[in-house]
Amino acid sequence: MSEHLSLTSKRFIPLCEPFIGGNEERYLRECLETNFVSSVGPFVERFEREFAPFVGAKYAVATCNGTAAIHVALRLVGVGVGDEVLVSTFTFIGSVNPIHYLGGTPVFIDADERTWNLDPHLVVDEVRRRARIGKLPKAVIIVHILGQPADLAPLLEIAAEYQIPVIEDAAESLGAQYKGRYVGTFGQIGCFSFNGNKVMTTGGGGMIVTNDVNLAQRAKHLTTQARLPGLEYQHDEVGYNYRLTNLQAAFGVAQLEQLPHFLDSKRRTAVWYDKAFHTMEGLVRPEVVPGGSSSHWMYSVLVDPVKVGCDRHEMAQLLQERGVHARPLWTPIHALQLYQECPRVGGAVAERLFAQGLSLPCSVGLNEADQQWVIESVVDCYGGKKNRGL
Ligand SMILES: *Cc1c(COP(=O)(O)O)cnc(C)c1O
Repeated sequence: MSEHLSLTSKRFIPLCEPFIGGNEERYLRECLETNFVSSVGPFVERFEREFAPFVGAKYAVATCNGTAAIHVALRLVGVGVGDEVLVSTFTFIGSVNPIHYLGGTPVFIDADERTWNLDPHLVVDEVRRRARIGKLPKAVIIVHILGQPADLAPLLEIAAEYQIPVIEDAAESLGAQYKGRYVGTFGQIGCFSFNGNKVMTTGGGGMIVTNDVNLAQRAKHLTTQARLPGLEYQHDEVGYNYRLTNLQAAFGVAQLEQLPHFLDSKRRTAVWYDKAFHTMEGLVRPEVVPGGSSSHWMYSVLVDPVKVGCDRHEMAQLLQERGVHARPLWTPIHALQLYQECPRVGGAVAERLFAQGLSLPCSVGLNEADQQWVIESVVDCYGGKKNRGL
């Protein structure tokens, strides 16, 4: 046993690292050779032109990151000072901060304990309650977390009934589908991220997609300092320097070419974990909504401390000792001091998901031996430290 441990303890299995296996170097070299390294150059438009049809949107506008994409999306639907926006409390903070940038107030909605995404019943009740008192939200952000499509039908229906614009935060769920269509294409605007840990990366980057030509044009305008054509530096509103660079877009074009392979790899990893864990008491996976299919971006479980004999914190520590990187899910945003004053609906589900949620290594290209090592290490966590004589 000690020999086994010492042999393998040098191993380190990261949670979710980029996979660089295509034309990245070739396209980057093209940028260097042509001197197009910044905001001008053919790869930005090419990336947009190839991304839009991949997800089935008419238009795509590249941004410097996913948070910037959400910021611009909120501007596009008119969110401003004093406006309220419904959003999941159980998400990464990049979904929420842009509301604050614009002087708006997030209204935090609890998660559904089956899917971990927005609880549609809470959203429907909250919108109807607000309609009665004349305080409809200015927008709804539907986040698809961890690769899981949200329960879109009831959410889109209530939003349409009261004409509330829908922004989809699909930063984590490129490739996830709902009723045969990619998420990010159901709302007025969809937002993606190409941060280093996402399904595909540009180093850092994001994308806005829409089917509305006016929104697409305005998105491009706002992300380029709202500068008017001509040489005289005329600007007709306060914009942002949010464009992606040609270097990043070149990387993105190469990653997009491999995306189907990335998604296959993610699915295989998830299926294999599911097979290993489904008979084990105390490890719970989120359910996929009817009509949905996950992109399996992140493989996360709830660790029931009673059944497993250790909590997710202890499990992460034990895995760390084996060179396995595991990570808790997010502190619900409503529980962060900085957003404590904001209205919220429910919250207990998100808090439990946080208390028990743990993500396991699931990088594209994770090999079988490493995945088997993760699985054995998780099994060995049962009973906790006591069981291991530690
Ligand atoms: C990553 C992420 C973002 C922000 O994307 P960045 O590119 O990191 O700015 C927004 N929302 C969610 C849910 C994310 O996971």
